[in-house]
Parts: sequence; structure tokens; C-alpha cells
Amino acid sequence: MTLSKTEQNIIEKAIRDVPDFPKPGIIFKDITTLLGNKEAFGVLMNHLYQRYKEYNLDYIAGIDARGFIFGAALAQMLGIGFVPVRKRGKLPSTTISEKYSLEYGFDEIEIHLDAFSGVSHARVLLIDDLIATGGTANAAANLITKAGATCVEACFIISLEFLDGVKNLQQKTDVYSLIKVS
Ligand code: AMP
Repeated sequence: MTLSKTEQNIIEKAIRDVPDFPKPGIIFKDITTLLGNKEAFGVLMNHLYQRYKEYNLDYIAGIDARGFIFGAALAQMLGIGFVPVRKRGKLPSTTISEKYSLEYGFDEIEIHLDAFSGVSHARVLLIDDLIATGGTANAAANLITKAGATCVEACFIISLEFLDGVKNLQQKTDVYSLIKVS
């Protein structure tokens, strides 16, 4: 199930470009305008539902924080569980963690060790708003595997195609993005 040109235009037009945020030279893709636009948000969620209802998924894992919004909404539509992939230090029970490189230094994300334990060999869709370098999504896909589940696909509303994030992540899992920015 792919996106029609009309649906793609509606979603793309609802995303706001904010130049020089959070620092000079970055064009920040602001999805708050998409969330606030009931037509565009509806088109997006309906498309994701139509695509993923055939995937036999057990869970959606959403990346902190914007992946929570789309991921939780989609999990509810599909009638499956939602697992938050959080920044370090936020989850209260036993966690597993994965470090990944940033431009300067590193960051770390975590999930609960027992996050997918409700289903053996759980099939998981990973979701976030945007993939840039792919460092965050790559670490999240590793966590899903470490927790004993399978990352069936990684889904992004936006992919920055001038970076190698998608190419790198494709070595680990299938990747689907709705809006490709070149
Ligand atoms: P990366 O690990 O480099 O793929 O970065 C992905 C994470 O950073 C995602 O959670 C995005 O929400 C955020 N991000 C990176 N670049 C941008 C951008 N240009 N606009 C909006 N969010 C971004």
C-alpha cells in the first residue's frame, strides 16, 4: 500500500519548515502543524492503518518523543500494543540501552527489557517522525532485537535523503518513508 500523490501533497503541505532551528543551517521539519491539521493528520493515519493492517504486527515501538504520537495512535487503530523507546534515565523498570553517535559525543536510548514479553517472537514496527543520519533509529532497531523481538519495518513520515540514514538502516530492516526530502 503506497501513498497517492494527492495524499502525499496534503501531508507535505501540512509540515512546516523552520530554518535555522535548533542551530544555523538546519531546516527543522515541524510536524506540529501536521498534527493540528485534522485533514492532513487523518489522511496520514488512515494511510498508515491501510498499509500496516496486513503486516500481522504485535507491537509498535515509537521513538522519544514525536514517534510516541504517531506510534500510539496507530497502535490503537491496529488494536496492538505500543512500546516507548525513551531517552536514557526515563524508564522506571529494568532496561536495556544502546548508545549512538551524534555530531559531537553520543546519546543513549532505552527500552524495558520485558517490553515485548507478552508475545513470543513479537513482530514490531518501529516509528519516528523523521530519519536524518539514522543513528537514533539504528540504535532503536538494535534494542528491539536485543529484547528478543523482530523489527519488521521502520517507518518515518519524513526521510532526509541527502544523508545516509535510510541506506544504513536498510541493512538492518525494511524502511518506509512517506515524504522524501532530497
Ligand atoms: P538521526 O538520529 O540523525 O536520524 O535524527 C533523528 C531524530 O532527530 C528524530 O527523532 C528527529 O525527530 C530529529 N531530527 C533530526 N533532524 C531533524 C530535522 N531537520 N527536523 C526535525 N527533526 C529532526
